[in-house]
Amino acid sequence: ISDDIYINHHDLTLNVSLPPPPRVGSNISGDPTMYERYWQQAGDKTTVVISGWQSMSYFSDVRNLCWFLEPEFAKEVIRLHNIVGNAITEGRHIVVGTGSTQLFQAALYALSSYGANEPISIVSATPYYSFYRQVVEYMKSGLYQWAGDASSFNEDKPYIELITSPNNPDGFMRQPIVNRTGGMLVHDFAYYWPQYTPITSPADHDIMLFTVSKSTGHAGMRIGWAVVKDEDVAKRMTKFIELNSIGVSKDSQLRAAKILQAVSDSSEHGGDVEEGRNFFEVNYHLIAERWNQLREAVKQSGLFSTPAFPAAFCNYSNRTFRTQPAFAWLKCEGKIDDCESFLRGHKILTRSGKHFGVSPQYVRISMLDRDSNYHLFIKRLRGMRYNLE
Ligand code: PMP
Repeated sequence: ISDDIYINHHDLTLNVSLPPPPRVGSNISGDPTMYERYWQQAGDKTTVVISGWQSMSYFSDVRNLCWFLEPEFAKEVIRLHNIVGNAITEGRHIVVGTGSTQLFQAALYALSSYGANEPISIVSATPYYSFYRQVVEYMKSGLYQWAGDASSFNEDKPYIELITSPNNPDGFMRQPIVNRTGGMLVHDFAYYWPQYTPITSPADHDIMLFTVSKSTGHAGMRIGWAVVKDEDVAKRMTKFIELNSIGVSKDSQLRAAKILQAVSDSSEHGGDVEEGRNFFEVNYHLIAERWNQLREAVKQSGLFSTPAFPAAFCNYSNRTFRTQPAFAWLKCEGKIDDCESFLRGHKILTRSGKHFGVSPQYVRISMLDRDSNYHLFIKRLRGMRYNLE
């Protein structure tokens, strides 16, 4: 289903009599299948068995503001944030969602329903996560409208700014850009985990979104959570999810609780570092190796550049390192101005910068694919220099 699976498994030149592989109409991208191996090796401790009579009710905890939140899941969310140190959860409300995609919409609903008489502007600095724009626009909502690049927003009216940090697609850590009163902020911390970036301090913002999709790799579970300061905002977000899907799959929440528990167990007090099974450590090293391979291939090719990230000290891992994002944001240098089609010509499928509000000289590439695909990608990238000579 991914428009971003960047490798064509078939050699197109050999398949001239066949139609090109179907490009299913989906923009879903960055499937985190790299993590499958860790969970295969983790064995049975994350297997969940749910009997026919279990998790049948709509309700999880009627005393909780978020009445469909499974207490076990909430407990593991808080435990994990405490171990990693990436977010303040004390005195905050947890709202569970069908992925952080649903929570993002719940946040927009909650914030934009504060009595504005015209649709409120939604902004995000370019390059921004392209899906946001599509999600904002698809319902032609009367509550909010897409207003594009936050750095050129200069209207004197209320707005909501989306801050993705580290950012998808380019990987940089971000702060709000519009500096104005009347602004409301939504922080997307899908990638604020120690396999990707140094955890420099616990994040403490009004609405913070997290997801298992990029933290543990369980995108198919469709579980995300919001850490929300204001009670009324948390109530409105809960109301949105009630109206939208009458809650969130309990089966998924129970499974997510088990996965988060395993991550916490593996990483508490440094985890089983000797055995090499600390979830964040293992995956930090895998991603670091992939980034080394990519930078080496990019350097050799002389055709591209990748962003340079500042180093910072990570309070979780006690090491200083540079962000190693889940996506590579590649720029075609020189005369190539459509990087996506140039790479497609070399059988590497990417997503063009134009989807993220910037020039087609840029492309985004997932760094979290399975080993076999990633290695094929690197091989093709390495081969390019010779093909061009
Ligand atoms: N936010 C960002 C910045 C993302 O990159 C993604 C996944 N591509 C999401 C949210 C979506 O997460 P989920 O699967 O939890 O809906």
